[in-house]
Amino acid sequence: MPQTKYVVVTGGVLSGLGKGCATAALGRLLKCDGKLLTVKCDGYLNVDPGTMNPVEHGEVFVLHDGGEVDMDFGHYERFLDVECKSRWNLTSGKIFNSVISKERKGEYLGKTIQIFPHVSNEIKDWIFSVVKDEQPDIVLIEIGGTVGDIENSWFVESARQLKRIVGAENMAYIHLTYVPFLHSVGEPKTKVAQRDVALLREKGITPDIIICRSKDALPAKVKEKLALFCDIEPTHIITSMDIDTIYEMPLVFLKQGMLDIINQRLGLQGKPDMSAWEVLVQKIKQPTKEVSIAICGKYTELKDSYASLIEALVHAGAHLGAKITLRWIETTDIETGKICVGETLKGVQGVLVPGGFGSRGVEGKILLIKHARENKIPFLGICYGLQLAVVEFAQNVCGLAGAHSTEVVPQTQHPVIDLLPEQQQVSAKGGTMRLGACKAVLEEGSLVAQLYGASTAVERHRHRYEVNPAYHEKLRARGMRLSGMSENRLLVEFIELSDHPFFVATQAHNELTSRLEKPNPLFYGFVRAALVHV
Ligand code: GLN
Repeated sequence: MPQTKYVVVTGGVLSGLGKGCATAALGRLLKCDGKLLTVKCDGYLNVDPGTMNPVEHGEVFVLHDGGEVDMDFGHYERFLDVECKSRWNLTSGKIFNSVISKERKGEYLGKTIQIFPHVSNEIKDWIFSVVKDEQPDIVLIEIGGTVGDIENSWFVESARQLKRIVGAENMAYIHLTYVPFLHSVGEPKTKVAQRDVALLREKGITPDIIICRSKDALPAKVKEKLALFCDIEPTHIITSMDIDTIYEMPLVFLKQGMLDIINQRLGLQGKPDMSAWEVLVQKIKQPTKEVSIAICGKYTELKDSYASLIEALVHAGAHLGAKITLRWIETTDIETGKICVGETLKGVQGVLVPGGFGSRGVEGKILLIKHARENKIPFLGICYGLQLAVVEFAQNVCGLAGAHSTEVVPQTQHPVIDLLPEQQQVSAKGGTMRLGACKAVLEEGSLVAQLYGASTAVERHRHRYEVNPAYHEKLRARGMRLSGMSENRLLVEFIELSDHPFFVATQAHNELTSRLEKPNPLFYGFVRAALVHV
């Protein structure tokens, strides 16, 4: 069995430089070298990001196995077209939990338990146990945060030690840093990057490649200067300049010889075929049409809260040659009367109501759904979007006055959306929702069955509430098609309206399985319908 190769990606200076995307882009290239495993290390003490507010941390990405993980896994899956696993996301919370429970069991009897070596050993053991299970050819490890942060220092130290265990010939380090362009002097300045790499070297890691995030491609002179101070070949300095679409990044890296450097460093030989990818990138860069989509939510102040949703639209747009223009609608503003529904949806060709929690902004969403239904504007509801479409339909079409979700109005006369039976006794918040992939059986002849081109669909879930089975018949009787049901026929997975050009909603989070090369069928159908709506 050939030795597994390890590539570690660290970052410096500041967050938001696109380390997750850069790692995913690199992974897209490395995929040609064999089976690739992506590991992400996050410094926070939460066991997983499931309990974090998306406005603070960005969206919570859900895996097939039900793991709630860092949103970078979204980039990995979208770029690599793989299914990642929950155990591939290490957090300080998981690692410390494991160390402390071992201590309680007496596994370190007689020892003083410390960050070094016990926590750093736990990290390495965790990685090796995942490697043992998955048997990958290459492991790509991204360390979250920036080098110098106290809370990721145990991950950085473990990454340094890895080289001693697996051998220098099987280990490559890549560091992403920042080279700002200073307008007053009219040139890119390297001092920040020099100091940043010096800090990494102080921790015992000398990078094999430095990726410089900068406005433009760095001139040779600048690379040479940085190379001298960082003790690296100028050719090993790669620029990650501003680009039109993140999907261009693997092509940008490939052109600058990044894969050749890693292949040479690790004794690998793969050559990726990027031709189909390149065609899609061109389609994103040179769209032939444009479509305006409204995203109606309450986390609109941080676009990362809806990262997968935006990308799923981009994927569908790429395949249809369309540029997607997003109109962000903060639904709380509709409730307060700050904006009016008809006005705000003027010129919009598609209305998307994404997932969400709690009551803030809900009445605004219901008004937007009503407007889309009555005015035949293509509508796509995701998770909470399905639940609120059902609430709107129950109130305004079925005539069930006061119908609501018990999440919003616990004492409602008509609880059309109610807690899943298995949720009734659950009080703990972490990892307790209905999570992960579930199969839906699609009704023959329905729009969703046609879009999937299949009689079943497997999508990922993250919710506690569902359409109350006591109301299924009432909804059906007034024309709502429950076009996808769980295998036991109890849970509604998809709904649609036949007397509408495109009114579809799903209890799942279909955005999570969309890939650039394989757009999710629902998003594809939605954008296609929006394109013909004028
Ligand atoms: N709040 C709803 C529920 O828990 C919807 C969740 C979501 O949109 N992810 O069921």
